[in-house]
Amino acid sequence: MAELTLDRVTKRFGDGDIVAVEEASLDVADGEFLVLVGPSGCGKSTTLRMVAGLETVTEGDIALGDRIINDEQPKERDIAMVFQSYALYPHMTARENMSFGLEESTGLSDDDIAERVEDAAATMGISDLLDRKPGELSGGQQQRVALGRAIVRDPEVFLLDEPLSNLDAKLRSSMRTELQRLQEELDVTTVYVTHDQTEAMTMGDRIAILDDGRLQQVGTPLECYHAPANRFVAGFIGEPSMNFFETDVEDGRLVGDEMVYPLTEETREAIGDASRVTLGVRPEDIELVEERETDHDFQTVVDVVEPVGSGNNVYLAFEESEDEPAELDVEESRTFVATIGGLRRVEAGQPAVARIPEDAVHLFDTETGEALHNRKLDDTEAVEPQL
Ligand code: ATP
Repeated sequence: MAELTLDRVTKRFGDGDIVAVEEASLDVADGEFLVLVGPSGCGKSTTLRMVAGLETVTEGDIALGDRIINDEQPKERDIAMVFQSYALYPHMTARENMSFGLEESTGLSDDDIAERVEDAAATMGISDLLDRKPGELSGGQQQRVALGRAIVRDPEVFLLDEPLSNLDAKLRSSMRTELQRLQEELDVTTVYVTHDQTEAMTMGDRIAILDDGRLQQVGTPLECYHAPANRFVAGFIGEPSMNFFETDVEDGRLVGDEMVYPLTEETREAIGDASRVTLGVRPEDIELVEERETDHDFQTVVDVVEPVGSGNNVYLAFEESEDEPAELDVEESRTFVATIGGLRRVEAGQPAVARIPEDAVHLFDTETGEALHNRKLDDTEAVEPQL
């Protein structure tokens, strides 16, 4: 086991004009489960492939412990990688697939190899499938064989590239839990790549969010959720996404096309001299109330209600003015979403007052996207767990 460090790692392709990863710096602690997450094409796989030794590093260093591994061959690195496609040999049984790498790259005796394979198979719950070929296994079983093949190598680092994306939703969810349990049991430094923010939030000790080849934020899931470094992170983490409203700062108020949002002195200080500010608020922080009572309450009309069982996602449109609430053309108005309890009844077309509490708002510099102010947290322990 070892700590994995990336120090200003850059990868350029072609004549250098495609920058897949730019100056990524990251420390993954010994035994940590780090999830690398970001949209398609942001450089996740390239980062992982550089760590595995499948791509060269253009600039910067990758180290395992205090050993720089940039120039080491993949097999010298003591790193095991599991791919989305499983990459099992179709003509070999599960047992042969799991033994093959050990026979090729270690001096272990046949008996030792057999024992390791049996142990790994027991850990993965596939002991009775060892004599089947991949074609005779389900997707989930094949993925377990692929993971088993990585485990037998007893590597210093596990790299997992979207290992669950070929599985159906239910199996994916149970494999997530299984993988977390396994990682804890094996206590191996792990980097897990996914584009799925739910997977990142639920699995990672920490998550590293990449966009367009650049690391945007590295932190615990709750830090990234409640204290996003910028608008990209705020919008990427969380489902449904955070709502954003573009505004101009005028006399201590945020003035947008559809709303005027006054700020207290404290919040005003946080935004400094920014003139254009994006207000962000998470759907679960918007309250639907009976009447307008504060200057953070807005008259809206319900556009669409999406019941998801435990809650309802209620899409709301601002009403243009209180004088003409009846025939509002919601098509014309951009909607935003509030999440409310699943047992509350709300119907499309109904008027509703949306309260956007100031304690819950995030403010971003519209030009740079940088967070100027994040929501207040009553319980700071929610972000920094005290163990
Ligand atoms: P996905 O989730 O779609 O797999 P990703 O985040 O893993 O995406 P990468 O595969 O790392 O993204 O690609 C990052 C960028 O580098 C993309 O713009 C991609 O087109 C480019 N790229 C990747 N491999 C090469 C290559 N061999 N030659 C040229 N460009 C490449």
